Amino acid sequence: MRLKPNRTEKCSTLTTLNSFLASKPTWDIWKKSWAEEDNTTESACVNVYSYYKKHTDCGGYAVILRNNSAQPIAARVNFSLDGKSYLFQVLSGLLAGLHLASDHGCYSPYVRCNSRIVVTLLCQIASRSCKCKGSKIGKICHRCANSIVPYMSDDCFETLVPLIEQLQDKYKYLGPTNFACVSRKMNEAAHYLAKEAKKDALSNKKLLVDYENGKLVDYEADMKPNEFLEKLVSFLLNDAYDSIYYNLDARGRLVG
Ligand SMILES: [Zn+2]
Repeated sequence: MRLKPNRTEKCSTLTTLNSFLASKPTWDIWKKSWAEEDNTTESACVNVYSYYKKHTDCGGYAVILRNNSAQPIAARVNFSLDGKSYLFQVLSGLLAGLHLASDHGCYSPYVRCNSRIVVTLLCQIASRSCKCKGSKIGKICHRCANSIVPYMSDDCFETLVPLIEQLQDKYKYLGPTNFACVSRKMNEAAHYLAKEAKKDALSNKKLLVDYENGKLVDYEADMKPNEFLEKLVSFLLNDAYDSIYYNLDARGRLVG
């Protein structure tokens, strides 16, 4: 059974595609094959799922780094009682994903997240500038940024500026084409992991106390692929095979 298809073997015909889908292993066999894989991450992909609940103010994200055979290399989860905003959580997730990728030697990963507005914001910030005064994200001011993301509050803008500056500063080599928005179906593993982390943080009291300020602070944890349970492995496996992972570019378009 072939367990290690790669990007160079693009499914150019229906027959090849069918034989590729037919080669899908069971979750446990697939998981066992991970250890044998060369974890070269030059063309790695990062899946990011972020959320923010306005009525409770909590938020969080999960990021999963995968190699070019769609196998997981590392994951990071975060849950915060002070979520700030949805945009804040998405940008924090992107930053965490990029940190995770560079920690594993990948400096230009394809990043797939669940926010079209953030992808648009990053693309626009990379290409637009204005001459207005006041604090700016990149080269555009709050008012001009509002034309991209309407109704962004002052507080929200102020919390986003440093995050976007970190993204721009640390990852100059990344272009807008490195970022794409994907559907929930194509991001199911990161979505599941984010939900589990929230449950874990709340029910198992994993939130840490900041003893100096007496406050509960973010729960953050790194996960290794060998700790992944069946359900998570199954989501990753389905994504690897059923969503034709290998034949999608950074924008989620079919190629080859
Ligand atoms: Zn402006």
